Amino acid sequence: MRTVLGVTLALTLAACAAPPAEVAAPAPPPPVAAPTVAIAPPPIVARAPVALCERGSVAPTRDGRLLNHFPYPGVSESVLLPAPPPLDDGGACRVHPAMLGDLNRLIAASNADPAVAGKLRSVSCHRGVAFQAQTFCAGILSGRSMGFRDRAWASAPPGYSEHATGYVVDFGTTDRGGCPDADACFAATPVGKWLIANAARYGFEMSFPAGNKQQMKWEPWHWRWVGTSAAVPGATAARATFSQARKSFPARPRPE
Ligand SMILES: [Zn+2]
Repeated sequence: MRTVLGVTLALTLAACAAPPAEVAAPAPPPPVAAPTVAIAPPPIVARAPVALCERGSVAPTRDGRLLNHFPYPGVSESVLLPAPPPLDDGGACRVHPAMLGDLNRLIAASNADPAVAGKLRSVSCHRGVAFQAQTFCAGILSGRSMGFRDRAWASAPPGYSEHATGYVVDFGTTDRGGCPDADACFAATPVGKWLIANAARYGFEMSFPAGNKQQMKWEPWHWRWVGTSAAVPGATAARATFSQARKSFPARPRPE
């Protein structure tokens, strides 16, 4: 019995003392290729030269401007509505409906001021891309302008006019006093002065003020509607439309 116990004990001790069986180290995992992170390349914005008037082409600048004008998509003409009288002259003045409330208030206010009552009229409102092409290219083809850049100082190339948005009115006056339409002298007419003093109260701002850094001709007759505040219905969309221009080249005067 002792012998058996001794063997048992010896076996047990031997088992305890035995070094642990060598366990094969697990094979290292095969190298895993680093996951490919899909990083979208920066969008390639087309900067292809834009053909103009079948006379040549001009490359836009990095901010998308062509001859200093920002691009503006044309509003669907089905959206437009006639401007209120006296601005709508036989259906020629059609505007974005979002501005109608303010435009009516502006007209009413002007009619309530003896200095300008009944004198407000429109010269141009919405202009589609095709019409803008005619307007722009007429100055080129007639030889009245030296070239694209000179022409663009006073007229936007097609696809780059604020008028295409429907948010713009070129105002005029029945009391011209010898001042032609769409001329800097408009600023000195009673209606021009009244607009400079009051239009911002009705959500309109002068897109191209005197000395603007956008290098546009001073256009005291050209007013775009952005609403008196972003809370005005439709103003958010109008402000988004002009956001680049408003940020880079603020209008003056302008709504707060
Ligand atoms: Zn204009």
